Amino acid sequence: MTIIEPFKIKAVEPLTFTTREQRERLLEQAHHNVFLLRAEDVLIDLLTDSGTTAMSARQWAGIMDGDEAYAGSRSYYKFEKVLKNLTGLEHVIPTHQGRAAEKILFSLVGGPGKSIPNNTHFDTTRANIEYSGAEAVDLLNAVGKQPEVRADFKGNMDVDALVAFIEDRGVENIPLVMLTVTNNSGGGQPVSMQNIKDVRAVCDRFGLPLFLDACRFAENAMFIKMREPGYANKSVREIAQEMFSYADGATMSAKKDGMSNTGGFLAMNDDDLAGRARTVLIVTEGFPTYGGLARRDLEALAIGLEEVLDENYLTYRLRTIEYFGDRLLEAGVPILEPTGGHAVYLDAKRFAPHIPPEHFPGQAITCALYLEGGIRGVEIGSLMFGSTDASGVFQAPPMELVRLAMPRRVYTQSHVDYCVENIVQVFNNRDKLTGYRIVEEAPYLRHFTAKLSRITARR
Ligand SMILES: *Cc1c(COP(=O)(O)O)cnc(C)c1O
Repeated sequence: MTIIEPFKIKAVEPLTFTTREQRERLLEQAHHNVFLLRAEDVLIDLLTDSGTTAMSARQWAGIMDGDEAYAGSRSYYKFEKVLKNLTGLEHVIPTHQGRAAEKILFSLVGGPGKSIPNNTHFDTTRANIEYSGAEAVDLLNAVGKQPEVRADFKGNMDVDALVAFIEDRGVENIPLVMLTVTNNSGGGQPVSMQNIKDVRAVCDRFGLPLFLDACRFAENAMFIKMREPGYANKSVREIAQEMFSYADGATMSAKKDGMSNTGGFLAMNDDDLAGRARTVLIVTEGFPTYGGLARRDLEALAIGLEEVLDENYLTYRLRTIEYFGDRLLEAGVPILEPTGGHAVYLDAKRFAPHIPPEHFPGQAITCALYLEGGIRGVEIGSLMFGSTDASGVFQAPPMELVRLAMPRRVYTQSHVDYCVENIVQVFNNRDKLTGYRIVEEAPYLRHFTAKLSRITARR
């Protein structure tokens, strides 16, 4: 039976169509960086699932009903209640988005000499840790780095590597251990409950706190329900509550599973740390009952954080991504398998093996998808994570991917079919893809603003 969109559409937004000639010119003007395109020049925007959600009629009603009081807003207390029930964590500190929570946390616990392990740090998490002077280290299990190998929980942390890492760096230099659910930079792959428990046990052994990067906690919980023995008959809410029960704290970009267009939070049990975090919050974001958000946004989040636990929604959500991936696989297009929760990731190493990592094969595909069909994805590979070591040698990350992220409740199956047709077209002409080089870059998160030029073959 076809799994259908579990909603009907009440408001629509037109798409703008461009010609290939127009897109050639627009991409040139954007210095071959799709972040620099105007969104109105994009037909299907799969750049991110962050803040691109279509809110529900109930959320829009909540926006109108939001209490805009500066201090003590009713909307804040509603938001706090939903999150305390979900996470069981004592202190809930709202922020305008996820990285603001990260910035506050790592300005307090980071700094030179400190090391923070994670299954895979998301780019803003890594940037906030490094910006504080600390070291961000990824300890993903081996199978998570093999895009062609199918496994149920490819987001799991390598627990032995975590123990070795703590012993090597010294427990006093590690302020906390993080787990990102689902693992965005590693393909949106879930982390099993067993792995969360195992990481918790290591944290207990060394007396370290565990923080979840909980952006996609509901998608992760649904994967646990579908794949992990013993969870099939538990509700996603119960599973999510159990996941959080092993954590001492969490950061979250609520622009993902918060089902809203903005927002985030930092939550924890440690009273002292929470007090210091609220002080930084007041200096940098706003008063603790709004944290840089309009109170109506907290209202929409309180509703969204409940809606995301609807299992009909999550079934449709995960099936959308799986359908997209299955159709690409049928056409022979190499993708990261199995598909994760929020995006399809093209495996650029196998898609364009003739382009070396230092010439950004993922970027070549990203540009080609825009030129072919007006589709915007994002490179997650050497452009995003590559670096040059002290001796000037280029260091590539383990994977070269192109992420095609699905905004929540926005596109339909025919939009997906259109994307598949265009990706297959680019794949069939993959020999014509050429690499890129960076012309201009910023010291942190260079992929957002870098200017690139196309490497044209010399004859
Ligand atoms: C989006 C995201 C963040 C950062 O959140 P923003 O709201 O974009 O600042 C952090 N971690 C993960 C895993 C994310 O997906």
